[in-house]
Amino acid sequence: MKKNKKKDIKRIYRKRIWPSIALFFIFLGICGVMFYTSVYMFEEYFVEAKIGNMQEEAKNLGRMITSHMENETVLDAVAYLEEYLGEERDVCVTDEEGRVLGKFGETAPDFGKQFTLEMIEDYTLIPDSGWEQGAGGPLMPVDEILSRSVDALPGKWDMDEDREWMEKTIFSVPCWIEIPVQAEGYRLYYKAPVKLLQKNIVFIVMAVLVEVALLLVPILLLFINVITSIVMQRRTINLLYLDTVTGGRNWEYFLQRSKKLLCQFFHSGNTYAVVNLHMERYQGFCACYGNKAGEELLQSIQGFLEMNVGRGETFARFAKADFGLLLQCSDMEQCRKRMKRMLAELTGLERDRVLDWRGGVYLIPPMEHGSGKQNRRQIDVEQLYHYANAARGNLQGDDGQYIGVFDEQILQEQLWQNKVESTMEEALLNKEFQIYLQPKYNPVTEKPIGAEALVRWVSPEDGIISPGQFIPIFEENGFITRLDDYMVSELAKLQSEWKLQGKKLIPISVNVSRANFTKENLAQHICQLVDAYGAEHAYIELEVTESAFFGDKELLQKIIRELKMYGFRVSMDDFGAGYSSLNSLKDLAVDVLKLDMDFFRGDDMGQRGEIVIKEAIRLAKKLNMQVVAEGIEQKHQVEFLAEQGCDMIQGFYFAKPMPVEEFEKVVEF
Ligand code: C2E
Ligand code: CA
Ligand code: CA
Repeated sequence: MKKNKKKDIKRIYRKRIWPSIALFFIFLGICGVMFYTSVYMFEEYFVEAKIGNMQEEAKNLGRMITSHMENETVLDAVAYLEEYLGEERDVCVTDEEGRVLGKFGETAPDFGKQFTLEMIEDYTLIPDSGWEQGAGGPLMPVDEILSRSVDALPGKWDMDEDREWMEKTIFSVPCWIEIPVQAEGYRLYYKAPVKLLQKNIVFIVMAVLVEVALLLVPILLLFINVITSIVMQRRTINLLYLDTVTGGRNWEYFLQRSKKLLCQFFHSGNTYAVVNLHMERYQGFCACYGNKAGEELLQSIQGFLEMNVGRGETFARFAKADFGLLLQCSDMEQCRKRMKRMLAELTGLERDRVLDWRGGVYLIPPMEHGSGKQNRRQIDVEQLYHYANAARGNLQGDDGQYIGVFDEQILQEQLWQNKVESTMEEALLNKEFQIYLQPKYNPVTEKPIGAEALVRWVSPEDGIISPGQFIPIFEENGFITRLDDYMVSELAKLQSEWKLQGKKLIPISVNVSRANFTKENLAQHICQLVDAYGAEHAYIELEVTESAFFGDKELLQKIIRELKMYGFRVSMDDFGAGYSSLNSLKDLAVDVLKLDMDFFRGDDMGQRGEIVIKEAIRLAKKLNMQVVAEGIEQKHQVEFLAEQGCDMIQGFYFAKPMPVEEFEKVVEF
């Protein structure tokens, strides 16, 4: 799920924006090229048209001179031309070696500077002597022509004035056009200034404006498309990173941001703390004040944290009222101080209710450069959060400690838990879980008359592991129900084998964890497991811990009734441990009461202890229950219990839990 989400985010990053941006820039490039070419082509057309006119005129003159020269000298022909043209035109005629044969007008061509224009290669142009290139004319860059043109536009338009204005020359380039005269390699040079008029400029500007407008529309559309894509992408990612309850960033974001912060070079010298903040009994709060109030509370916690978590830090809600934070701190002491202040403020977050907050912390030291020892890239922030969480979970509720710090011991516990969880399935398949039996003795005859089946994990790697090391883990992760099924089956198999071997059976109890008591059909399920081996129900006893009696009482009563109906014996385990309630005796008709070993701890039970035990046994008897005393290690305890009419004794005084083969010898069926 998480992996998919990450992939989705990456896909959104990659897919949506880059094509649009690329398309935008490609289009922008195309538009630029189109614009430049069109302006260039336009200019070419314009200049060509202008010079073309002049050239036509020059050709006519050439023809005229040629016809004159048939009868007269060149100079006569030039004189005729001067007369014909008047004083306005400058003309020059050279022979084949470039010597000036005749000229009129004030200026002369500068033959050394003759050039052709790239755009109108057909004509050779020659500037006036004394004319500087770049001072204007066809060689002027396009942008300069445009800027001159725009500058030349009038502020206001008036039809009559404007018509006159339009005909004004903005600039004129003093160009001579070279035209060969037919006879004897003579050349005629005719001054044909290329003129740019105001109206040409207006036309150019108009044309450019129209083109710009035409190109701007798709550019704008594409630009809007890119911007909306970016905005949409941001919104989608924001949604993927949104905690819908608090309105802040979600856990996924926290993990990614934390990783980023930890790996940033300029943060590498900082000490960081991965912190778990946990509000106790949040569910109780919701049950009391409603889910809406619960959500509002989470939102105010979000607001509080936003104010208290800095820039180079981050936080998000993990689940319920559990928040993960990545804080910067100089050392553990500073971190503790900061957390203490936060917890104190969070406690008083609600005006009329005191909230109970706890915190756990895992400290990440600064990165050691170059040593490769502390490569933060390999850090699994979520794992560290769970470590901080475990440190908080290890706090004893009533010792006044509100901040748990992850240390070596917790690390070992965590490593063990990981190991157990990663190997439990295989261990069950490989039958590494084995039944040990602890006999229960009659205190008077001192003979075994029953037993309890207790599990042992016989691991090829770690040897015999006692239940205390893995049952709590199984209870937390739910695997306990699978183990209980296995134990019930193994016990049924054993009883049926003994039955087949003709041995005298004794009742053997097996533990059924409270996690099973949420199953409506638990009794039928156990029945099926036992019947699969054809074991006799009467010799199988199911131990239910007293703590299970605080769950769904009605369901529990129903299951116990059904189990008894199927012929199983049911016992109440650990009676008197923890939260004892005499009510459970009233409501639940079990067959056996197992007095918890806490009653018998310490060297001396004491007079008060004896009274309690005596009365508990009396009460059980009155309610038609058998009594088993657990954890009996001393002779005087056995004597006392025998006196009180206790039915069975289970304890190291008589025997410890043992493998089946050993049990068979002890019991002597
Ligand atoms: P429990 O059901 O109360 O089992 C009795 C525990 O007390 C056993 O510990 C037993 O070895 C120990 N014990 C018996 N007599 C004495 C004594 O005289 N002195 C002392 N110090 N201890 C004594 P064990 O086998 O380590 O089991 C611990 C707990 O693990 C059990 O407590 C039970 O709650 C759980 N457990 C064991 N096997 C299973 C199982 O198959 N399923 C489930 N759900 N829980 C199991
Ligand atoms: Ca038990
Ligand atoms: Ca017990």
